[in-house]
Amino acid sequence: MVRVLSSALDSATRRLKQNRENTEKLASLIEAKLWTKFGAINPSYQSQMRSICLNLNDPKNNDFARRVFQGTIPLERLAEMHPSEFASERALKIRKSVLKRHSDMYKNAAKSHMAESNAYKCPECGKSKTIVSSPYRSGAGRESVKSETWGRKDEPGTPITIQCCACDHTWTKVVHA
Ligand SMILES: [Zn+2]
Repeated sequence: MVRVLSSALDSATRRLKQNRENTEKLASLIEAKLWTKFGAINPSYQSQMRSICLNLNDPKNNDFARRVFQGTIPLERLAEMHPSEFASERALKIRKSVLKRHSDMYKNAAKSHMAESNAYKCPECGKSKTIVSSPYRSGAGRESVKSETWGRKDEPGTPITIQCCACDHTWTKVVHA
C-alpha cells in the first residue's frame, strides 16, 4: 500500500515539479494517519487510500496534490475526507455557482408564476425536470376576447416557456387551453 501511495506522490511530484526527496516519508506519514483512523487495512481504509491515490494521480486535480505538499490539508484530514472534498478549488467553485444559479432560478420561477414540471422532456439533454411559465399569465384578457370573436377553433393557443433545470436549455411550446 505504501508503495502505491508513494508512487502516486511521485507522479504528482513530477507533474508539479516539486522536490522529490520526501515522498516516501510523506507516504508513510499518510499511511500512519489512515492506520490510526481505521485501525486495520479494511475496506474503508482501502477505499480512502484509493481516493487519495486517484486524486494525486489526477492531472485535472493538481490542486489537491499541491495542497498535500504545502500542508494546506493536514495529514489527519486526508484520512477522513469525503470523496467530494478531494475536488479542486476550481471544481468546487463551479459546483457552488451551479447550485446558486439553480436556487436563483427557482426563486425567480416562484416570483414570475413559473412552476416546476416534469411533463416536458428537454430536447437537449433528455431530462424532464423543468420549470414552465404559466400559460394563463399575460394577455389573457385579450385572448379571451379573441376566442369569443373567432370561436374556439381559431384560438391561437398560448406559448409557454420551458426551461430545463439540468442544462438550462430553454424552448417554447404552444399550448391550447
Ligand atoms: Zn436539458
